[in-house]
Amino acid sequence: MRAFLIGRWQPFHKGHLEIIKKISAEVDEIIVGIGSCQKSHTLTDPFTAGERMMMITKTLENYDINYYAIPIIDIDYNAVWVSSVESLTPPFTTIYTGNSLVRELFSERNYVVKKPELYNRTDYSGTKIRKKMLDGSAWEHLVPEEVVKVIEEIDGINRIRRLSEKDYDEE
Ligand code: ATP
Ligand code: MG
Repeated sequence: MRAFLIGRWQPFHKGHLEIIKKISAEVDEIIVGIGSCQKSHTLTDPFTAGERMMMITKTLENYDINYYAIPIIDIDYNAVWVSSVESLTPPFTTIYTGNSLVRELFSERNYVVKKPELYNRTDYSGTKIRKKMLDGSAWEHLVPEEVVKVIEEIDGINRIRRLSEKDYDEE
C-alpha cells in the first residue's frame, strides 16, 4: 500500500520526521510531496525544492523507510489539483493530511484520507522555526542534524536575514 503526504517542509523539522516514521510503519511506501515547489527565497518559503529534497533525502538515509520525494507545483486550480498531483506521483490509495481543503479534494475522488497526529506542535512548527532563524534564537535542536548541515551549506540563515531587510522606501 502506498500513501501520500504533502508539505512545504520549510524547513524539514523533527515533527515531520516523526510523522513520516509513524506512517512508514503503516504503509509499504510513502510519497513525500514537496509542495509549492516553485517557491523559494521568501520569508515563508525560503528554501528551493532542491534544497528541501536534500533535507529530506539526507535525513531519511538514516532510516529504513521506502519513500519517493516528488516536487509538486502550485496550480491555483482546486478542482483539478488531484489530477495534477496524480500526473506527478506514483499511484497511491491513501493520503495523510490535516488540511481541510486537501481532505475534501481527495475524498471527493474516493481516496482514503487519514489525519496524522501532531508531535510537540508547540516547538515543531515551520513558522516558529523560521521565526527563530530570523531573530537569532536557537533552532538547530528542532530539526534533524542533516537539516542543520544543509542549511549551513547553503548559508540559509543569512539568506533569510537578507530577505528580511527593508527596501529604501520602507526604511
Ligand atoms: P508551516 O508553519 O510553514 O506551515 P509546518 O510545520 O506546518 O510549517 P508543513 O510543511 O506545513 O509544516 O507540514 C507538512 C506536513 O507535516 C503536514 O501534513 C503537517 O500536518 C505535518 N506536520 C507539521 N508539523 C508537524 C508536527 N509537529 N508533528 C507531526 N506532523 C506535523
Ligand atoms: Mg503547515
